[in-house]
Amino acid sequence: MTYTVSHYISGKIVTGGSGFSPIYNPATGEQIGQTELADQIIVESAIAAAQDAFASWSQSSLGRRTAILFKFRELLAAHTDELAQIISREHGKVLSDAAGEVGRGLDVVEYVCGVPSLLKGEFSMQAATGMDVFSFREPIGVCAGITPFNFPVMCPMWMAPVAIACGNTFVLKPAKADPSAALYIAGLWAKAGLPAGVFNVVQGDRHAVAVLDTHPGVKSLSFVGSTPVGKELHDIGVAHGKRVQALCGAKNHGVILADADLDFAAASVVSAAFGAAGERCMALPVAIVVDEIADQFLDLAVQKAKEVKVAVGTDPDADMGAIITRADRDRIEETITDAENSGARIVLDGRGYRPKGYENGFFTGPTIIDQATTDMRCYVEEIFGPVLVVLRVPDLESGIQLIKNNPYGNGAAIFTSSGDAAREFQRAIPVGMIGINVPIPVPVAYHSFGGWQNSFFGESHIYGPEGVKFFTQAKVITQRWPQAAASQAAASQAATFHFAGASSASS
Ligand code: NAD
Repeated sequence: MTYTVSHYISGKIVTGGSGFSPIYNPATGEQIGQTELADQIIVESAIAAAQDAFASWSQSSLGRRTAILFKFRELLAAHTDELAQIISREHGKVLSDAAGEVGRGLDVVEYVCGVPSLLKGEFSMQAATGMDVFSFREPIGVCAGITPFNFPVMCPMWMAPVAIACGNTFVLKPAKADPSAALYIAGLWAKAGLPAGVFNVVQGDRHAVAVLDTHPGVKSLSFVGSTPVGKELHDIGVAHGKRVQALCGAKNHGVILADADLDFAAASVVSAAFGAAGERCMALPVAIVVDEIADQFLDLAVQKAKEVKVAVGTDPDADMGAIITRADRDRIEETITDAENSGARIVLDGRGYRPKGYENGFFTGPTIIDQATTDMRCYVEEIFGPVLVVLRVPDLESGIQLIKNNPYGNGAAIFTSSGDAAREFQRAIPVGMIGINVPIPVPVAYHSFGGWQNSFFGESHIYGPEGVKFFTQAKVITQRWPQAAASQAAASQAATFHFAGASSASS
C-alpha cells in the first residue's frame, strides 16, 4: 500500500475520519492505497468552510468568475494526460476512455465560461405606469455533489463548475474506490485562483453522505449513482428542504430494425456495450433485434466483439480494461451463469478471461447472451459490465413495448434508415436521451443530461440550461420611484406654466 487519500477543505488537505477503505489497481488486483472515510466532524467542517466562502464568492463579479473558469479550463486541458493516468490506475479503464471523460468534463467548463450570458435577467419596462419589473437568478448557497466510481472526473464536472460559476460553493463526496482524481481537480481549481473554501472534497462512504443529506447548511444535492441509493437520497434530501437532482441506474435498449445498416449497427452496439467495460450509465447492454435480421446481426456483433482487446488500461492498444472490484467481476460472471442456467444461449463467453501477466486483475471478457427473456436476471438487473443481452422481437412495436415496460428510462437508441420509424420511436418511449443511429446519445454540454422513470429523481436535469436553473433561484423586482415620478410630474407641470406664461405674455 503506497498512499492515503484524504479530504480537501478550505484550500488544505485535511486528515481524519472514522477509518479507511482500500484502493485497488483493478488491473493487478493489488491494494495500492487507502481512502480516508470522513466522519460527521470532517463533513461538518467542509460545510462550514463552504458557508464561510459563500459570503464573498456569491458577491464576486461575473468577470472575476469567468477569468477563473477560463484559467481552470486551460489547466484541465493541459493536465488531461495526468488525470487520465490517475483515473486508469484506480478505475481500470483504458487511457483513451479516461482522457475522453476529462474531455466531456471540459465541455461543461467551457459552457459555463459563458456564465455572464447564462445569468442575464429579464426586464419589463413600464409594467404599470411608472413601474418596471425585472428578474434575475441568484446563487443558492452550499451545494453538495455525490458521485459514482465510473466517471471520477466527468460526473463531478457535470455539477461543480456549474454551481461555482453561478456563485455557489461546493462540497464533493467522490466514490471511495477511485478518490484521487477529485483531489487533483481541487489542486487545479486552486491554481486557477478559486478562493479557498469554494470547492471542497470529503472522502467517504454512506456515513459522510448522510451528513450532507440532512445538514441544514446544504441547499442542494446533486447525486449520480445507483437507483436505490439515489431514490433514498432524493427522498431524504427533499424531506430536509433541499433541491435534489439524482441521476441513477440504467438499462438502455438499442433497437435494430431490418432496414438498418447492419454492419454499422453491430459496430455501434459492440462499442457501446463493451466500451469502458460496460461500466457506464449510457452503455447499451440490451439489443432488441427484429427476427428477420437477428442471426445476421448476431454474427456481425460476435465477430466484432471478438476483436475487442481486453488489457491493462495503460496498454495503448487496449479497448477495454478491468472491472472496478473483484466482487463486481464475480457478480457479472455469476449473472452470465444464471442466464445460461435459465435457458439463454451464451454466444460469446467472457467468463474467466484473464490477460497474461494480469491474472490477478479483475478482468472479464465481452459476453453476448442471445435469446434472453425479460424475466431473466441478466435482463432485469443493471449488470454494469461487458455483457450484451439480445432479445428478439417481431417488429418495432414490440421493441417499443419492451422499453415502455422497463422501469428505467435513461437512454435508448434505434438503428434504422426509416425516418418514420425513428420518429415513432422517439415519440413513444419514456426515456430521457435517445439516439437515432447514435448508440450513446450523451447530450452536448449546452443541452442538459438526464433520464426518466427510475433513472432520475428530481426536477432539473444536470448541466446545460437545467443545471444553471438548478443552481440558482429567481428573484423578481417590481420597482417604482415615487419621488422621481412626483418630481417628473412637477417638472412637466412647471414647463406647462412656463409655456402658458410665455403665451399670455406675448398675447
Ligand atoms: P453507488 O450508488 O453505489 O454510489 C454512488 C455514490 O453514492 C458514491 O459516492 C457512494 O459512496 C455513495 N453511496 C453508496 N451507497 C450509499 C448509501 N447507502 N447511502 C448514501 N450514499 C451511498 O453507485 P456506483 O456503484 O458508484 O456507480 C454505479 C451506478 O451509477 C450505476 O447504477 C450507474 O448506472 C450509475 N450512474 C448513473 C449515471 C447517470 O447519469 N444516470 C452516471 C454514472 C453512473
